[in-house]
Amino acid sequence: MAPATTSPADSRRLVGSRRRTEAPRRMLSPSPSPPPKKLRPMAEILATARFAVVERDDYSDMSCEQCGSGERPDELLLCDKCDRGFHMKCLRPIVARVPIGSWLCRSCSGQRRVRSFSQKKIIDFFKIRKCNAVEEKCASSQDARKRRRRSASLVLQKKRRRLLPFIPSEDPVQRLKQMGTLASALTALQIEFSDGLTYMPGMAPRSANQAKLEDGGMQVLSKEDTETLEYCQAMSKRGECPPLVVVFDSCEGFTVEADGQIKDMTFIAEYNGDVDFLNNREHDDCDSMMTLLLATDPSKSLVICPDKRGNIARFINGINNHTPESKKKQNCKCVRYSVNGECRVFLVATRDIAKGERLYYDYNGYEHEYPTHHFV
Ligand SMILES: [Zn+2]
Ligand SMILES: [Zn+2]
Repeated sequence: MAPATTSPADSRRLVGSRRRTEAPRRMLSPSPSPPPKKLRPMAEILATARFAVVERDDYSDMSCEQCGSGERPDELLLCDKCDRGFHMKCLRPIVARVPIGSWLCRSCSGQRRVRSFSQKKIIDFFKIRKCNAVEEKCASSQDARKRRRRSASLVLQKKRRRLLPFIPSEDPVQRLKQMGTLASALTALQIEFSDGLTYMPGMAPRSANQAKLEDGGMQVLSKEDTETLEYCQAMSKRGECPPLVVVFDSCEGFTVEADGQIKDMTFIAEYNGDVDFLNNREHDDCDSMMTLLLATDPSKSLVICPDKRGNIARFINGINNHTPESKKKQNCKCVRYSVNGECRVFLVATRDIAKGERLYYDYNGYEHEYPTHHFV
């Protein structure tokens, strides 16, 4: 009789720490010796494997098909058909979590190739205006210094909590990588990048976006916060994006992770997309629509539809706000403001967010808190 450790489940676990879907997620302890040979009979593998993978005896020489490296073997995801390995973060879109069920690589699944972008393509994609003027750089860092000094004043901070500008990752290569994940995700969904609200023929005209129509009135973005908004927009135009990456998760689909620390009250992004009348979209299947204006006259209410044009905000997931468990995950919120008489929606951090944390907002939350609530 075979000892318990040679049961199929256990021998699977011993293949190594590589991620095979449907296999146990974690090794009990990393083994320093090369992974032992598999003990499962071939007939059993063929009977149970969905794609009849002929698994190898030894996975210790496995390397990533994308980057060629065999490092970080615990991040290698194995294709259930061709048995090749891929680092989860080398895949585009990035795979954030070991998929539930079987996983096939791009060539085995026959999936349309998700474009990965070269540096130049990323710059073109986001229409990044290269900052070659030295003065501009100086001006912005001086501005930041001024800002720090000003915000150091305790009196001001106590009076009202101001929005903080996001702090881009210092390394330009890291920023390009971040923008590359967004470009890939937008392209996969055939969405054009837009760094502002868009008004298309046949939808709501720009003149329909009037904050004064809001039922009960809309809070006005203060002068200081408007400056912060403009400062952030100018950074984005230079390719100094917020420290965020778009990742793909088999449960949640595309989702957004912090790629650096984000402080409480930080302006993360504006919610952009095509503006339309709510009436036109009531039976729409767009998976991420955002309220822009709740007018006293419902026929004048507006929504943002990021199905054709949009930015990173559309990839940030809302929580299920019916369970306390998922409420705990919330780390940012959507807030609507009147900016020069126009309604705008911003995503703002509601607590400090650590690198690697996913961003979640309460999709319904802000409607109840609006308009008196002010981040306190
Ligand atoms: Zn790799
Ligand atoms: Zn494959």
